[in-house]
Amino acid sequence: MIGCSAGFVNLPRIKGSHNAMKTGMMAAEAAFEALSAGRSGDELKAYAYLYEHSHVYKDLKRVRNVKPFWSRLGTLLGVPVGAFDMWTNQLFGLSVFGTLKHGKADYATLKPARDCKPIAYPKPDGIVSFDKLSSVFLSSTNHEEDQPIHLKLKDPSIPIARNLPEYAEPAQRYCPAGVYEVVYDNSGGNPRFVINAQNCVHCKTCDIKDPAQNINWVTPEGGGGPNYPNM
Ligand SMILES: Cc1cc2nc3c(=O)[nH]c(=O)nc-3n(C[C@H](O)[C@H](O)[C@H](O)COP(=O)(O)OP(=O)(O)OC[C@H]3O[C@@H](n4cnc5c(N)ncnc54)[C@H](O)[C@@H]3O)c2cc1C
Ligand code: SF4
Repeated sequence: MIGCSAGFVNLPRIKGSHNAMKTGMMAAEAAFEALSAGRSGDELKAYAYLYEHSHVYKDLKRVRNVKPFWSRLGTLLGVPVGAFDMWTNQLFGLSVFGTLKHGKADYATLKPARDCKPIAYPKPDGIVSFDKLSSVFLSSTNHEEDQPIHLKLKDPSIPIARNLPEYAEPAQRYCPAGVYEVVYDNSGGNPRFVINAQNCVHCKTCDIKDPAQNINWVTPEGGGGPNYPNM
């Protein structure tokens, strides 16, 4: 595995492109070496060796505790403590904290809606803040209308039966593209879960964040998805 599929992004620096390219190059070198030596059925042991002796490994080792600290201690405390640890690693090559792990999976961190105060966000002003659908428009995301939906629910009843009463169905809020909606009939009852799959910008948050782990993001047909022509 290479690049982001193996989690080789340097999170505090949001740097992943060079790590993806470098690990791809090392995997190719290891595969070439194995094939040249006639060892086609072999495990690519040389890849693990090359990785552990590369700048990618060195870089990621220094920042390994940043996100666990952030998750455990929150932004105000977690980020400075994570930064301290990162710089201790950078300057002295060691961490006084060893290697921290994430306590639990991301989807298991949600609090029930009854324990939270709804946030009244100001309306987007169209100058520095924008509504979700205008931003989705800029992503030029597109999916063929007649293709099978690429956002699959393992159990279609869970969003309304379980997630709505417990978590006010969080997909309505965490999805950056407004793909998920809970709509009601004219009397304000009979909630229905609607998936506007053609707006999906492929961030995969829903696959990770759904508290019931009920949403499965699968690759859409025909190279659909966001298309940023000016980047
Ligand atoms: C908002 C944001 C900002 C970033 N900024 C920076 C930055 O400034 N500098 C930097 O270095 N890094 C940055 N990164 C990180 C960087 O973009 C990634 O680490 C890097 O692109 C990972 O490359 P990759 O080849 O491993 O994976 P990807 O670029 O994700 O490529 C994987 C490809 O596989 C395709 N795919 C997935 N499943 C299938 C399947 N089943 N069949 C066929 N195709 C499939 C996907 O469509 C995709 O095209 C940023 C990331 C984000 C999200
Ligand atoms: S992948 Fe991202 S954009 Fe697409 S539906 Fe899931 S949360 Fe929304």
